[in-house]
Amino acid sequence: MSRHEVRVAILGAGMSGVCMAIQLKKRGYDSFVLLEKAGKVGGTWRENTYPGVACDVPSHLYSFSFALNPQWTRMYSPGSEIQQYIEDLVSRYDLGSHIKCNSTVVRASYVGNAWHVDLEDGTRYVTQVVVSALGGLHIPSIPNFAGMSDFGGEFIHTAQWPSALDVKGKRVAVIGTGASGVQIAPAIADQVAQLTVFQRTPAWVVPRGDFAFSNKAQEKFSTWPGLCRFYRWFIFWLLEIRGGFIKRDSRRNQWLESTAREFLLKSVADDELRQKLTPSFPIGCKRVLVSDDYYATLMRPNVDVETRPIGRIYEKGIQVEGGAMREFDVIVAATGFQPFVVNRSIDISGRNGCNLNEVWQERISAHRTVMVPGFPNLFFLLGPNSGLGHNSVLFMIESQARFIIRVLRTLRRAGLSTVEPRAEANEAFNCQLATDLENTVYGGGCGAWHTDSNDHNFTLWPHSTIRYYLTMRGFDPNEFLWQRSGASSG
Ligand code: NAP
Repeated sequence: MSRHEVRVAILGAGMSGVCMAIQLKKRGYDSFVLLEKAGKVGGTWRENTYPGVACDVPSHLYSFSFALNPQWTRMYSPGSEIQQYIEDLVSRYDLGSHIKCNSTVVRASYVGNAWHVDLEDGTRYVTQVVVSALGGLHIPSIPNFAGMSDFGGEFIHTAQWPSALDVKGKRVAVIGTGASGVQIAPAIADQVAQLTVFQRTPAWVVPRGDFAFSNKAQEKFSTWPGLCRFYRWFIFWLLEIRGGFIKRDSRRNQWLESTAREFLLKSVADDELRQKLTPSFPIGCKRVLVSDDYYATLMRPNVDVETRPIGRIYEKGIQVEGGAMREFDVIVAATGFQPFVVNRSIDISGRNGCNLNEVWQERISAHRTVMVPGFPNLFFLLGPNSGLGHNSVLFMIESQARFIIRVLRTLRRAGLSTVEPRAEANEAFNCQLATDLENTVYGGGCGAWHTDSNDHNFTLWPHSTIRYYLTMRGFDPNEFLWQRSGASSG
């Protein structure tokens, strides 16, 4: 078994892991390693390569405040451009020597004031600090329809798109109408012979307003970085103000719902189809989708929407309940992810062998969204309740990375070795969060992926991002237990 000692181990080299690494480097912490299971960096943007993949947050905001990119080609740039942006960050900040690809972490155990981070190949990293940057939406959720193994064509989840697959002239089924489904359907509709969208629940959709930046605009952003920053702040505040829809029954919620209704009315002339596409839950309860061409796609002559539940899959196609079998060459499951399962796939044990899976058995939660009592010096990026439905999660990641740096500095300056949240502080924070969630559209009731089996929202932040920034900045040191090396916990 090979053994290495570093100060910080970052698990995962996606957007959040790379952000953490850059912040460490900028602040003079050079003893860190980024452990990545895949062959290259990128996380979500490496894995998701399906046609039409893009971020539903404008690119100038879906990039880091310390690394603006004047060269974005579109308001909503394609996934491949975001992947390139991440790879460029690695070069720009010279992170290459810190990144260990093909390093699958299987276990992280807190043993005598240090973390032992074990890889599948037997390598062990002994570290003071562990930062989990594994991402909440990573493990595909693949439905288990009867007869699935009988299907003779291609069955693909959106996050596992084979680069060689050509859907031209094929009969394609897309199952799911979430953020991925509404991107892929318009991207392939004009190439395929027939496209059937299997919709279980209609989603609220608002116009995206996508456009390409002209060369002139890109040049201006490059020449005047201040303009690029101003534009970014402009988008940030637009989304932040619109984010008032989170509050249940608020005026902005009503406004957003009427915008979505009008968009549907304007886009879909057919009454029967419009009826099928009209959601019956309050806007925001599930992620609000942004698309300029989804509704138009559904109106194409070679596209139809099937709302009857899937009954069985056969060798040649799909049969819905009460319907005949329809033939397909390709079935695309745009059926989402199993949130936080990746954190649980690694065996994480803290003080006295306390296991994270057991702690999270009843409810997934963390103090100030980043730390769990009993797990000293373990931090989560994009951890419980730090996802967003209205703005850029990169803002959240930066706030979290800054929080971690502040904690590390405090440890260093005071000659301390460990920090963990006090159980009572964690309890108070999460009780308040649960109360706050009740007044929002994220409070459950529509079967969204961001709630657990008890309809408790464990993924989304129920306030403005500014409030999150202040929450992460203004922590009280007394909420945490700080210790010197060798001291026993009390
Ligand atoms: P999703 O939002 O969870 O949507 C999954 C879709 O599949 C839903 O329409 C769901 O129906 C349907 N579905 C699931 N299981 C099914 C089954 N057994 N039978 C029939 N239909 C089934 O997944 P996603 O679209 O991949 O998006 C997940 C999240 O990833 C998003 O909310 C977003 O946070 C992120 N994402 C972001 C972007 C971006 O641009 N930023 C792009 C893609 C994804 P029900 O609604 O009835 O459950």
